Amino acid sequence: MSHDPNCIFCKIIAGQIPAKKVFEDEDVLVFHDIHPWAPVHILLIPKLHIASMVELQPEHAALLGKMSLLAPRLLKELGVSNGFRTVINTGPDGGQEVYHLHMHAMGGPRPWAKG
Ligand code: 5GP
Ligand code: ZN
Repeated sequence: MSHDPNCIFCKIIAGQIPAKKVFEDEDVLVFHDIHPWAPVHILLIPKLHIASMVELQPEHAALLGKMSLLAPRLLKELGVSNGFRTVINTGPDGGQEVYHLHMHAMGGPRPWAKG
């Protein structure tokens, strides 16, 4: 399925739910997380509805590569200059809440973070 009408991130891609967009091209959408865990917290998602990393196929390799290359570039543009954390939660034990594959990218000073 390339689009799931019940998926909240597919609705953001379709413009049915607003989001603070950072970047968009034909393959990828990037927007600010609604509940940031860090001063800068963006989500990078494929426009294709892929539920989680478990569903990834070899033909998705370039897409994931593109997301990985975009994260440092966009964080830099957002003023992140001292490192960042990327996270992909997968499945119930991985703490995944939205079943549309997404990469969290978080940066900015976090004096409360333990490491
Ligand atoms: P997960 O736990 O699935 O890895 O993370 C889902 C993330 O999506 C959470 O950090 C949550 O704050 C974010 N999120 C959920 N719904 C929305 C939404 O409607 N808009 C935005 N911008 N972020 C959302
Ligand atoms: Zn989706």
